[in-house]
Amino acid sequence: MRNEARFDLPRRMLLGPGPSDVHPRVLGAMSQPTIGHLDPAFVSLMEEIKDLLRYAFRTTNAFTIPISGPGSAGMEACFVNLLEHGDTAIVCVNGVFGTRMRENVERCGACAVVVEDAWGSPIDPDKVAAALKANPGTKVLAFVHAETSTGVRSDAAALCALAKQHGALTIVDTVTGLGGISVDVDAWGADAVYSGSQKCLSVPPGLSPLTFGPRAVAAVKARKTKVQSWFLDLSLLMGYWAGEGGRSYHHTAPINALYGLHEGLLMLREEGLEHAWARHARMSAAFVAGVEAMGLAMQVDADVRLPQLNVVKAPSGVDEAAIRRDMLGLADVEIGGALGAWAGKAWRIGLMGQSATPRHVLGCLGALEGALAAAGVKIPAGAGVVAARRVLDGA
Ligand SMILES: *Cc1c(COP(=O)(O)O)cnc(C)c1O
Repeated sequence: MRNEARFDLPRRMLLGPGPSDVHPRVLGAMSQPTIGHLDPAFVSLMEEIKDLLRYAFRTTNAFTIPISGPGSAGMEACFVNLLEHGDTAIVCVNGVFGTRMRENVERCGACAVVVEDAWGSPIDPDKVAAALKANPGTKVLAFVHAETSTGVRSDAAALCALAKQHGALTIVDTVTGLGGISVDVDAWGADAVYSGSQKCLSVPPGLSPLTFGPRAVAAVKARKTKVQSWFLDLSLLMGYWAGEGGRSYHHTAPINALYGLHEGLLMLREEGLEHAWARHARMSAAFVAGVEAMGLAMQVDADVRLPQLNVVKAPSGVDEAAIRRDMLGLADVEIGGALGAWAGKAWRIGLMGQSATPRHVLGCLGALEGALAAAGVKIPAGAGVVAARRVLDGA
């Protein structure tokens, strides 16, 4: 007979590429009673969420909402709304998520011009400038700000400026960036930007914050053809999120999930964006000091490294998947494996949102040392934790 008993969940420390640990305040907010999605109290909550998202994105864009779906839904919303059959989009590919953008462009019936950079490298603005010159009339430049597959940050400000010079709209993926490193939508002049709830915002997965600037909204309104996705058609969603008086039923918002997003964004505003960015930088500095003191090496150069996604090379001869299994099984610490060319050779260790704390840094280093030592790797005992402490103590 099947066991119909309650499903007993383990308590993990989430240090993979997302989701990150969720604060009890957020979980508490989500357990409040469900109300109707057209209830005036819920409409007020939606307005507050839009304001809080504008704070997080650093934008005054009126159309700033959470899409009811994971980061991939935010990505798809940008492409299906801004591209029509026959349009050209330049897509920067320096990791897994750039490849998905290309896939989105092609499924819209648009032409994808791919600008490729190596795994571990940021997007090269010179190559993008050349592609924009070679393809006059390009409608969209799409790129990933924070590549979670490689742990690399690209220069969003420079890329958006290039697009503007050539009259192209920008689609910016900052799923892993938002809340962890500087995201400055208005200063960048970015047109369509999306994120995710479960990375540096530390809210459970399933929501995708999105903001469209005036030029992007105008492009949606000027479409010659209907958006092929009814659910993600932003001209319909604009009515749903229009605010008191203007709201019309579109779909039923994930009400309790939005309670959680509201609380997570509130916590971010209480801390302050700059303080959150500084915390991510400090936790990563401590973690990297620990890793290097253990004799391990980082995969990505320090100047383009994301503090919230640390790629550590596995020592040669070590079964990296066995180390991850050991850390999860014994210490309840989840870290990520690497993808693509780096699969089997590195770990992706997320220090995102509520998982960017001294407890997580020290806990991860301790669990990693223990697993490596048990696998026979010679590690100077305690060196990682001591080196990280030195950074955390400001010594
Ligand atoms: C996680 C991630 C996504 C996809 O988000 P989901 O919530 O998994 O759909 C897209 N882009 C980047 C850069 C990501 O890290």
